[in-house]
Amino acid sequence: MGKSKQPKAIVVGAGIGGLAVSIRLQLLGYEVVVFESSDQPGGKMGVKRLGDYRFDTGPSLFTMPHFVTELFQLAGEEISQFQYSRKDIVCNYFWEDGKRFSAPADIQKFSEKAAENFDVSQSTVLSYLDLAKQKYNLTAPIFLERSLHKLKTYQHSNVMKSILSIGSLGINSTLDRVNRKAFKDKNLIQFFNRYATYNGSSPYQTPGIMSMIPHLEMYEGTFFPKGGMHAIAQSLYKLALKKGVSFRFSEPVKRISYIDDQVNGVETSEGFESSDIVVSNADVVPTYRKLLPDIAEPKRVLNSERSSSALIFYWGVNKEYPELDLHNILFSDDYKEEFKSLFEKKEMYSDPTIYINITSKEEKTDAPNGCENWFVMVNAPTNIGQNWDQIKTEVRINVIAKISRVLKTDIASHIDVEDVLDPVKIETQTGSYQGSLYGAASNSKFSAFLRHPNFSSRLKNLYFCGGSAHPGGGIPLCLLSAKIVAENVPHP
Ligand SMILES: Cc1cc2nc3c(=O)[nH]c(=O)nc-3n(C[C@H](O)[C@H](O)[C@H](O)COP(=O)(O)OP(=O)(O)OC[C@H]3O[C@@H](n4cnc5c(N)ncnc54)[C@H](O)[C@@H]3O)c2cc1C
Repeated sequence: MGKSKQPKAIVVGAGIGGLAVSIRLQLLGYEVVVFESSDQPGGKMGVKRLGDYRFDTGPSLFTMPHFVTELFQLAGEEISQFQYSRKDIVCNYFWEDGKRFSAPADIQKFSEKAAENFDVSQSTVLSYLDLAKQKYNLTAPIFLERSLHKLKTYQHSNVMKSILSIGSLGINSTLDRVNRKAFKDKNLIQFFNRYATYNGSSPYQTPGIMSMIPHLEMYEGTFFPKGGMHAIAQSLYKLALKKGVSFRFSEPVKRISYIDDQVNGVETSEGFESSDIVVSNADVVPTYRKLLPDIAEPKRVLNSERSSSALIFYWGVNKEYPELDLHNILFSDDYKEEFKSLFEKKEMYSDPTIYINITSKEEKTDAPNGCENWFVMVNAPTNIGQNWDQIKTEVRINVIAKISRVLKTDIASHIDVEDVLDPVKIETQTGSYQGSLYGAASNSKFSAFLRHPNFSSRLKNLYFCGGSAHPGGGIPLCLLSAKIVAENVPHP
């Protein structure tokens, strides 16, 4: 890289990871150009209007907002440009047996309420959450916050080995086994098993270490961004523009170009654009198969099992439901069968767990007066060519029946406007391989090592960020991937 001229970086994709990396690289001194296939920033974090209703199309749960605000701090900007509020209640839970539970976002309050509502003592819940905190504090600095694949990280290999050997971390067990050992109440076990879905995995396969996730939710809290989830992408987009990043929308990258094992730019739909480094925020599978067809693909990484996908119904509902909050779960009666269907049979389950997100509970303007904007999501297998039109019709019938049964309402008669997102659309709209929500699944204890590194070992100056690269999917981890890339690129 020449010292005299300003180095140039190209980012492929304006998902949350691409936006964050563009800001970081611009602040490092690069001239940054982002190419995005679609006509707007955000990727999976999209927005949609149906009549007078507004919907966030993708992520709905927001944790660890400091990974967003630190970008404003780094840029020397007021963090008040991005506003959000903390939720007192994380989620309302409903079971078919009539049980209901509102989970407070506070460890003490949660343990008290859990002891009142489930067959468990407060001290058992507190020790479980304390262990969750220890698991997070021990593993996050090594497994999430740095490039696992760099020599300097392996210089910490003694630390890694000792961490991996701590039995209480549950790395050699599954989340379900850890939870069954800790609790006997089947509803409480299901409650804690659900955290596997936060990265699109199965609680019956994902390692017990995932029990650290409730620590993040109850200790750090959950949040709602003013303006809805899409405001996260919008505010980072505005910040990037302010710092001088250029965006070229509706201009897909067709090839990543290289000479002598070193990238030198990209071919887009409009022609060649040269650069010193390229960061792919696109899914790693199409990055190799479409943008680098002549480079031998890292088979083990690309063939690793994908995380689950989803079917989402966006419903404008002409009624208000006071028993519902921003986040709501209606649990399946047989969780084990549900995950067997999703991951082993690659089929939808007939009694799916239903997640209902209603942002109009927080942002009144998201729905007309007396109405609510329902984002109704069920877990789906990845797209391997199933008949999604038929599946959508069947699932809609099951979902409407379950909601009507559990909430004692006739929900079908209250749906004003409707749209649906399926795994095929997720794949075509965002390039996510097989429509997975979070890149590779974490269904084995080796999955942390199987994610694609944040750099290429085949081509110099090629980097990767976003949900399919290390450290994984979900907003906080995508933002961390951008941070790791910025730490590893040449610093001008
Ligand atoms: C329905 C749903 C629900 C979710 N729920 C949550 C949640 O509650 N909480 C949470 O934290 N996470 C959630 N997630 C996951 C989260 O949305 C993702 O992990 C995250 O948004 C992915 O960001 P990314 O940086 O990987 O980019 P992506 O959002 O995957 O965007 C990649 C971008 O690259 C562009 N692109 C691809 N190929 C090219 C090319 N060749 N040229 C130019 N541009 C290209 C695409 O158009 C896209 O805009 C959910 C995801 C979905 C779909």
